[in-house]
Amino acid sequence: EVFAPRRNSQGFAMTDTLALAPLRQQLAALENQRFHASPIVGGQRRTGTAQPRVSPIDSRREIGSLVASDASAVELALNLADAAQDAWAETAANQRAAMLEKAADLLEARQAEFLWLLSREAGKTLPDALGELREAVDFCRYYAHEARRLMGSAIALPGVTGEANELRLTGRGPFIAIAPWNFPLAIFLGQITAALAAGNTVIAKPSRRTPLIGMRAIEALLDAGIPADVLHYLPGESGGLSDKLLGDARVAGVAFTGSTGAAWKINRTLAARDSSIASLIAETGGLNAMIADSSAHVEQLILDVLMSAFNSAGQRCSALRILLVQDDIADAVIERVGKAMQELRLGDPLQLETDIGPTIDTLSQRDLQAYCDKLAQSAKLIGKTPLPQGLENGCFFAPQAFEVSLDALPTVETFGPVLHIARFKSDGLEDAVHRVNKLGFGLTMGVHTRLDSTVALVRRLAKVGNLYINRNQIGAVVGSQPFGGEGLSGTGFKAGGPHYLLRFAAERTVTVNT
Ligand code: GLU
Repeated sequence: EVFAPRRNSQGFAMTDTLALAPLRQQLAALENQRFHASPIVGGQRRTGTAQPRVSPIDSRREIGSLVASDASAVELALNLADAAQDAWAETAANQRAAMLEKAADLLEARQAEFLWLLSREAGKTLPDALGELREAVDFCRYYAHEARRLMGSAIALPGVTGEANELRLTGRGPFIAIAPWNFPLAIFLGQITAALAAGNTVIAKPSRRTPLIGMRAIEALLDAGIPADVLHYLPGESGGLSDKLLGDARVAGVAFTGSTGAAWKINRTLAARDSSIASLIAETGGLNAMIADSSAHVEQLILDVLMSAFNSAGQRCSALRILLVQDDIADAVIERVGKAMQELRLGDPLQLETDIGPTIDTLSQRDLQAYCDKLAQSAKLIGKTPLPQGLENGCFFAPQAFEVSLDALPTVETFGPVLHIARFKSDGLEDAVHRVNKLGFGLTMGVHTRLDSTVALVRRLAKVGNLYINRNQIGAVVGSQPFGGEGLSGTGFKAGGPHYLLRFAAERTVTVNT
């Protein structure tokens, strides 16, 4: 069957000031807006006591409020999602896909509002926010396309004379989607739209740090025609909410993105159920390295190090944490990284001159500070970005880089703009890759080299889901760089890749003896 070609969204040239001017006006007009999030179950917004939400750019700045989910909202969502499952799975894939494509159009039409929320609730710079909105739009269209491709019709299979065999994919059952705060729109919608596309009803749980963005995303899907009993929104932490959801036998699967520790916990809760076996699709942490040998193009390397380690304030699971540099060029690289870090600019994420916005909250800021204070006792600080005056009320954290020895690589993920740099000897390339593999994570790796032999060696040995050669290692593109890791970094299949929907689907074989 031939499908209409799918294209990724066009995006925006940030240097085109003429094109940017109306958008900036729209963003400015939103500055005093307040957004109100609450559970949405069966299409109804639930009422209750609203707690104020503040922005990570300034804790005095209220941007909206949240009514948290309670046990009755959870129960009703489970009942409705379960009751709606069969009809949704029987809805033609083409029809489900059309709704997701409509949602993509609505996201684009509501661009300014989403960019504002991404910046004000999640602290994203304007280019990051644009990148995330595009990714969200691309996920909607990609999974729509995939639903048509994989689920549009059954596959006829061979059999003996007089026997007809067919295999088809259908929904598994109600899914719980648990999203992280660092991609509160793209990953949130990616999980949900994949589950919906494959014919599953969905209960969506945003991060407790980003309920406002999640709410507008859910509203876009409902406005696009996703039936009210098929998709439910449960924001806010309230005691036992997750356990109640995960422990319910009607839940057929969980799509989770977040820390490795949280994935273990979810896995244990699901395993403790003795009524059904739920599938877990988890995309978790990373302890990502970049390896530069002495043939690396140093200017390009420095740019890609800064981008990979500090863009988005290092709050990407793909972000660079460990730079391994061959010792012939290590002095030059370390000096230049340190100097270049001086030039990065922290500030209001909506200002175009800002390179780096805040971390997500004061807890994260404090954890990063404690980590760096401790590391400074054993490692040498080689670079630190200046923290300008006037940001004291926000959760800003100045990027820092430390030189560590090869024997003292970090073993846990630090989710922020902290870079570790270690030297390896000219015959130590293979050893360097093994050391990274041994950390147990397997998400992204970068390589900078002009030697084919280095590329070949790393390609062969590196146990990572996404390997980037001679470029930065963040910002995977839907349909071009399917994203996700192995080992401690996740279960697969990859988001934005041709196998992802299969994880959300059940297979049925029908044999007819004619
Ligand atoms: N897909 C994102 C990237 O390639 C990272 C996703 C995450 O941080 O969870 O940078």
